[in-house]
Amino acid sequence: MKSEVSIFWFRRDLRIQDNRGLHAALASGYPVLPVFVFDRELTRGTDGPFDRRVDYVHQVIKCLDARLREHGSGIFAEPGTPVAVFQKLCEKYDIKAVFCNREYEPTAIARDEMVRKWAVEKGIAFHDEKDHVIFERDEVMSQGNTPYSVFSAYARTWKSRLSQADYQELRSPVDRFFGFVPPPVPSLRDIGFEKTGISLQPLEPEPGRIANYAQCRDYPAVDGTSRLSVALRFGTVSVRRCVAVAIRYSETWLNELIWREFFMQVLYHFPRVERECFKPAYESIRWRNNEAEFEQWCEGRTGYALVDAGMAELNETGYMHNRVRMVTASFLTKHLLIDWRWGEAYFAQKLTDYERSSNVGNWQWVAGCGCDAAPYFRVFNPAEQMKKFDRELMYVRRWNPGFEIKKPMVDHEFARKRALEVYRAGVQWY
Ligand code: FAD
Repeated sequence: MKSEVSIFWFRRDLRIQDNRGLHAALASGYPVLPVFVFDRELTRGTDGPFDRRVDYVHQVIKCLDARLREHGSGIFAEPGTPVAVFQKLCEKYDIKAVFCNREYEPTAIARDEMVRKWAVEKGIAFHDEKDHVIFERDEVMSQGNTPYSVFSAYARTWKSRLSQADYQELRSPVDRFFGFVPPPVPSLRDIGFEKTGISLQPLEPEPGRIANYAQCRDYPAVDGTSRLSVALRFGTVSVRRCVAVAIRYSETWLNELIWREFFMQVLYHFPRVERECFKPAYESIRWRNNEAEFEQWCEGRTGYALVDAGMAELNETGYMHNRVRMVTASFLTKHLLIDWRWGEAYFAQKLTDYERSSNVGNWQWVAGCGCDAAPYFRVFNPAEQMKKFDRELMYVRRWNPGFEIKKPMVDHEFARKRALEVYRAGVQWY
């Protein structure tokens, strides 16, 4: 006789506490078998075997597995595709239901549809819960019941809808896991990757840091932001915990968490923005797309100290401060007139916190072609940005030593005028 089980399928919700899908699985009446699939689709544009995202996820799975083993359980973790892994588990268990948390990106939606279809054919129930966001899909809509494309209006409605129940954390009874110990989690090398040196910290919002966020967040030399983007990306922290801290300590920080949900709902309602400008007029811009210049940008050899420091931080750590992300993205799209999609793809390859909705949304915002974007005629001056936000040159010295002797690859005033002409011509032509 096969044992009857419910599966909880971990994906980008890698924690035990306050996990809505896991909570529902534990309440299903069957013992729960936790499963994780090392799916190659997990990372788009992976960075070879030294992939920080895979290393991060692998470390988290090992930690969760160790915790579950204290309860006589563990995570059944395998490389492969979800359907193939579940199919294999069917040979051993009588799977009654698969539980998971809902995702909103087009590829994740398509993958979940495939698993749902497979489950239905097998007579297995498939349940997905809201977990990654406070409000999802059509929960925050305009008065005309259309999705928002302006952040301020979205944020107003988001805040007016929020009640304490929306960010109430759940406590799950962890004794309902399946009393069977799965095989050990395969090593990083077993799944084709190598250690990158990435660490798991931080995993929780620090109240002191959040309270000072509004004053510190724009200065890249100051460690003044939460550094929770990776934890939010992979769900090692719950968004409800973050919102509870934000409400107590910083509305500015709350707004950033709302930006995250704003871009998620934009991608959900307008999946075309993954590849196309939200404003179609901007498809007519005649990008220069010079490959050698793109390489200079990627390698941090533009001669603009702040841009090059940012690219060095990204290349060396997989992270870049938000202010510098804006400056480097602006430099690529405006100064070099390189298609925002090239920059988006490069960030996707390098960022550990890579979130498709946020990356596409912010790139389009900077390029001027996205939802509620900065007007295209606003061109960041990288030297002025440095004077304003890195006055003591601490950030550029850290990431770009010797910056004083490097010559800019293009004159700012010349590039600004050229960008305005090309943008104007493109948008007018439309
Ligand atoms: P904090 O400033 O402490 O903010 C808290 C959380 O709010 C972040 O962890 C993040 O989840 C969210 N958040 C903050 N700013 C934004 C924003 N502008 N848009 C959406 N969510 C936001 N963020 C990503 O998580 N993944 C990406 O792939 C990504 N790509 C970006 C590309 C560009 C060109 C730009 C300009 C920004 C991008 N961001 C991205 C947004 C932002 O830069 C990072 O979220 C932030 O720097 C992460 O550091 P933190 O966790 O300390 O953020």
